[in-house]
Amino acid sequence: MDNCIFCRIANKELPAQIVYEDGGTVAFLDIHPVNPGHVLVVPKEHAATILDISPHSLTGVMDTVQRIAPAVLAGVGASGFNIGVNTGSVAGQAVMHFHLHLMPRFEGDGYELWHGPETSTDEIEAVAQKIREQIG
Ligand code: AMP
Ligand code: ZN
Repeated sequence: MDNCIFCRIANKELPAQIVYEDGGTVAFLDIHPVNPGHVLVVPKEHAATILDISPHSLTGVMDTVQRIAPAVLAGVGASGFNIGVNTGSVAGQAVMHFHLHLMPRFEGDGYELWHGPETSTDEIEAVAQKIREQIG
């Protein structure tokens, strides 16, 4: 994909702070880090979203996360991390080449996880039923 920035980073046509690379994936620093050590793990195979990527490439991405996360945490002195995958523009996906955000967390960094509202058991059950019907 000539006009895909993450394909171009994977092909070394655009600069990036690559911290790890193997046959199927590349991991590099996000240029707008939510915290130091914010890494994007990207499959070399171009696919727009997690729903389009091959199972092989997806496994490669997760293998890379497991492999590099301890080093990322040690490198920046973080004590935990969040993983994020934005899928679709409504979810904030800006780059249409599947990527996984590995975001180190620090005590008191001020980020909060999302808090959902109190929801009745009936509502939860109704949603579960709709999803089960779709899965079939
Ligand atoms: P998303 O919103 O999940 O599509 O995230 C895209 C991410 O890519 C954002 O966090 C950007 O800061 C990051 N980004 C965009 N261009 C580059 C680039 N050339 N090098 C590194 N990170 C980038
Ligand atoms: Zn691409």
